[in-house]
Amino acid sequence: MLGLRIAAATALLCLAGPACAQKPEDTEQAGPIPPVVTPAAQPGGPPSDAVVLFDGKDVSQWVSTKDKGPIGWTVEDGALVVKLSAGNIETRRTFGSYQLHIEWKVPAGVTGSGQLRGNSGVFLAGVGPGDGGYELQILDSYRNSTYVNGQAASIYKQAPPLANAMRPPGEWQVYDVVWTAPTFGADGAMKTPAKVTAFHNGVLVQNDFVLAGPTRYIGKPAYAPHGPAPIKLQAHAGGGPVSFRNIWVRPLD
Ligand code: MG
Repeated sequence: MLGLRIAAATALLCLAGPACAQKPEDTEQAGPIPPVVTPAAQPGGPPSDAVVLFDGKDVSQWVSTKDKGPIGWTVEDGALVVKLSAGNIETRRTFGSYQLHIEWKVPAGVTGSGQLRGNSGVFLAGVGPGDGGYELQILDSYRNSTYVNGQAASIYKQAPPLANAMRPPGEWQVYDVVWTAPTFGADGAMKTPAKVTAFHNGVLVQNDFVLAGPTRYIGKPAYAPHGPAPIKLQAHAGGGPVSFRNIWVRPLD
């Protein structure tokens, strides 16, 4: 009687079909075993496998974009401060896809409006001179309106942020970014586009956004082939100076 009941119960379970012949172990994966990464003691700190790009003192990971010489920006109270006359700076190393953490601040008492208020930017891949590359906008967007695809956390002139998560000027802002570098075929044609996911102060602002090419001030974006590229920070005339701290990156290639 008991045997019949078990058989009946099994038959009922097996109405689901092919799953009857399978075991839990069939869908378990033995490897490859993920690498051990020790997280930082403090939230936002660099994990054990991160490349630290700025720790509050050392600027040796950075060069001037225009001549690849010393950056000319200043370090004040553990922060890297934009110096407009020195121009953009970029990492000495180049990167493909990566995870980036970067903190930035617009000074308290900043003046100006629109784009002329705490303007800087993170070029997620700095391609070419000047402002060439793919810009994640930095701006004081706290009670400061401008075109939405040019406010803080926008992909400049391509994608407004999904939310305005600004803290007031004088407070530190945090960007956490996952950058997927574009790839190009041997003929130079774009094979897979660049994509970005970003958080501003922990709030999702870009969700796997597909870029149409490098960001442009004027005109439509278009891809041109490039390889691994530096991360570039913008020296913009628009009301600052913006400062940076706690910058680290985890290459994902
Ligand atoms: Mg900018």
